[in-house]
Amino acid sequence: MLENLSSRLQQVVKTLRGHARLSEDNITDAMREVRMALLEADVALPVVKDFVNQVKERAVGREVLQSLSPGQAVIQVVHEELTRLMGEQNVGLNLATNPPAIVLMAGLQGSGKTTTSAKLARLLKSEKKKVLLASADVYRPAAIEQLKTLAKSLEVDCFDSNATQKPADIAAQALDFAKRHFYDVLIFDTAGRLGIDEAMMAEIKQLHELLNPIETLFVVDAMQGQDAVNTARAFGETLPLTGVVLTKLDGDARGGAALSVRHVTGKPIKYIGVSEKVDGIELFHPERMASRVLGMGDVLSLIEQAQKSVDLEEAKKLADKVKSGKNFDLEDFKAQMLQMRKMGGMGSLMDKMPAQISGMMGQVNSEAGDKALRRIEGIINAMTPLERRKPEIIKATRKRRIAAGSGVQVQEVNRLLNQFEEVQKMMKMFSKGGMSKIMRSMQG
Ligand code: GDP
Repeated sequence: MLENLSSRLQQVVKTLRGHARLSEDNITDAMREVRMALLEADVALPVVKDFVNQVKERAVGREVLQSLSPGQAVIQVVHEELTRLMGEQNVGLNLATNPPAIVLMAGLQGSGKTTTSAKLARLLKSEKKKVLLASADVYRPAAIEQLKTLAKSLEVDCFDSNATQKPADIAAQALDFAKRHFYDVLIFDTAGRLGIDEAMMAEIKQLHELLNPIETLFVVDAMQGQDAVNTARAFGETLPLTGVVLTKLDGDARGGAALSVRHVTGKPIKYIGVSEKVDGIELFHPERMASRVLGMGDVLSLIEQAQKSVDLEEAKKLADKVKSGKNFDLEDFKAQMLQMRKMGGMGSLMDKMPAQISGMMGQVNSEAGDKALRRIEGIINAMTPLERRKPEIIKATRKRRIAAGSGVQVQEVNRLLNQFEEVQKMMKMFSKGGMSKIMRSMQG
C-alpha cells in the first residue's frame, strides 16, 4: 500500500536520523524531498504546500533544533502533521439514531460502491446488527443482481428491487420494508455514472431527501489520484456527505487521495478498501496510516487482525503478551507466524509491520513471504522447548544441530535469533511507551 510514497519518505527519515545535529539547511533539504515525494504520489498541490510549511515551521523551531535527537524530533513532527492531515480519531459508522439507521452510498460507476456496501454489511453483521441491503442501480447491467449475489453469500438480506423500477420508488419501498421488519441498518446502494453528471446528482439528491440517511458515504477509487479529490469535492457540494470510503488502496494507487481528501473536502475517510474480497475493508486510522507510510509499522492493526483470525483464544493470549511485553518467547513467535499463515495474505500484514521487521523477513511478495515463514517455523520446531523459551542458551553446537535438523544454513538460525531479539525489544517498547518509543528506538 502506497509503496512509492512510503519508500521515499522512509529515505528522508533515514537521512534525518543519520545527522547528529540538524541545521536549518538539513531540514530544508529534507522538506524538499518530502515535497517531491508527496507531489509524485499525486497529493494535491495546496495540500503539499500547507503540509510542508507547517512541518518546516515547527521543525526549525527551537523545540526541535535544540532537542537531544533533532532527527527524531523532525520525524515526530512529520508523523504528527501527516496524522493531522488525514483527520482525527475515527470511530467508523455513526448509527446512533432510531432504527433503521440508513447508510447511503454515493460515487461514480466502478468506484466500488456495490462491493463496499457488501463489505459494510458483513462488518455490521459481525457486530450482530440486522442489516438490509438495497440497490437502486437500475442503469448498470446486473448491478442489482451483483448485490443480491453478494448478500446471499454473506447471508445478509437484500431488498428485492429490479431494473424496471424507479430509484425513488425503490428507496421508499426499501425503507418501508426495513421499518416493518425491524432492521437495525439499511445500506442503500445507488447508481453511479462514469463522470460527474447532472442527472446523477439530481437523482442522488432526491434519494438523500427521501431516505434522510444518518451516514452518506462517498465511495472513491484511490487509483484515480487527483481526480478522486475533484470528484469528492463535487459530490460534497451536492450532498451533505458524512464520510469517504477510499477503495482499491491495495492496487498501485499512488496514495495522494488518502492524504488530500480530508484536507480538500473536510470529510473524514472512514474506511479503506484493501482487496476485492468481502473482508477487504479496514477502518481508516490516520495515526496508524501515518506510521505505515513512514515505515514505522502499524502494530495495533496487526494485533487486531490477529484477534479477528480463526483462533480467537490463542490470538488474545498473544496480544496480551505483546501488550504486556512479558515473556514473549520463540513459542509465541512461532504461534504468531502460524496466525499469520492462517490470516493469509502476507502482503497485508507486511504493510503493517515496521519497515525493520518486514525488511528482515525479506520479500514483500506474499508467496516468498509465506515460504520464509515456513522456514522460520521449521527452525523453531527443531529447537527444544527450553530453547524456545530461552533462546539465549543456544550455543554454537546447538545452532549447527538446529540448522541441520531444519535443513537450513547456520546463518539462517543466527538471523532468526537476531530477528527475534529485535522483535522482543520492539514488543517491550511497545508495551511501555507505544509508538513514540518505537520510533525513538529506530533512530538507533
Ligand atoms: P460500483 O460500480 O461503484 O458498484 O463498483 P463495484 O463495487 O462493482 O466495483 C468495481 C470493481 O472494483 C469491481 O471489480 C470490484 O471487485 C473492484 N473493487 C472494489 N473495491 C475494491 C478494493 O478495495 N480493492 C480492489 N482491488 N478492488 C476493488
